Amino acid sequence: MRLGTTDHDRDTAGLLYVYPVVSRRAGGVSVGVNLNPNNACNWRCNYCQVPGLVSGNAPPIDLSRLESELSGFLDAVLSRGWMEEHVPEGARTLKDVAFSGNGEPTSSRQFAEAVEVVVRVLRERDLVGRIEIVLITNGSFAHLPEVRRGLEAMRGAGGVVWFKVDSATDAGMRAINDARTGPERQRRNLEIAARACPTWIQTLMLAIDGQAPSEAEVEAYLALVRDLVASEVPVEGVLLYGLARTSHQPEAPRLSALPREWMEAMAERIRAAGLPVRVS
Ligand code: SF4
Repeated sequence: MRLGTTDHDRDTAGLLYVYPVVSRRAGGVSVGVNLNPNNACNWRCNYCQVPGLVSGNAPPIDLSRLESELSGFLDAVLSRGWMEEHVPEGARTLKDVAFSGNGEPTSSRQFAEAVEVVVRVLRERDLVGRIEIVLITNGSFAHLPEVRRGLEAMRGAGGVVWFKVDSATDAGMRAINDARTGPERQRRNLEIAARACPTWIQTLMLAIDGQAPSEAEVEAYLALVRDLVASEVPVEGVLLYGLARTSHQPEAPRLSALPREWMEAMAERIRAAGLPVRVS
C-alpha cells in the first residue's frame, strides 16, 4: 500500500472504522474514523463521493473495536519506517484524526462515546494538542444533546468542526444536498456547533448543467455570513471548495467545477461580508 492524495478508499488499511489518507485538506496524513461503514447518510449531496450511498443513519458502533483499531493503527503510523514506506515525500506528517466517513458521523447515537475513545487513544500517545481532531459534518444533528456533548469533548482536546453549508436557501439545500433540514435550522445548528467547539463553515460550490449558483443564491449565502458576523457567532471562517473529485451520485454528469475566477470572486465577497476564507 502506498498512499496518494487521490487514494480515499476507506478499505485501504483493511479495518472497519479506521483508514488513512494523505489529505490535500490536512497537508499530510489524516487518520479517518468512519462511523458509517453502512454507507448511510441522512443527506444525499449531489457531489457525494460515497459509492453505494444509502439513506439512513450510522449503525451501532463497536466502541472497543474502534479503540483497538485506532490504537493499533496510530502505533503503526508512529513506528519507524511507516511514513517512508507508505507516504510520498513532503507529506510525511501526522496531521489529524478526522471523523469523516461514508455518511454523517453525528447520526451515530454513540458519537460522544466515539469522541471519548479518540481523545483517550490520543492522550495515551501524548498526541492531544499536537494533532487536531476534526469533525466533518452536515451539522443536521448538532442540536441533539449527545452530539453537543461530543462537540464539547472535542473542544477540550484540540478539536475543530467543519460544518457544511453549501446553500442558505431551502431550494438550494434540496437541490444540492437533498436535505429537508432547511436554512433556519441549519443556521441554529451552526451557532450551536460554533459555541461548543471551534467551527469552520465548509462550502462546496459547483455548476449544475453548466449554470453557476444564481445571484439570489449567492446573496442568500452572503446574508447568512453577514448575520453570523453581526450576531457575533464565533465562526472561524469559510473553507470554500470547488468540485475536485467525481461524484458517485446519479447527478454526476450534470456537475462541473466553476472557473477559478468565479471562486476567487466569491471568496472576495465572503471576505467583504466579514469572514476569513480559504479556497481549495
Ligand atoms: S453529508 Fe457528506 S456523506 Fe452525506 S451525502 Fe453529503 S457529502 Fe455525502
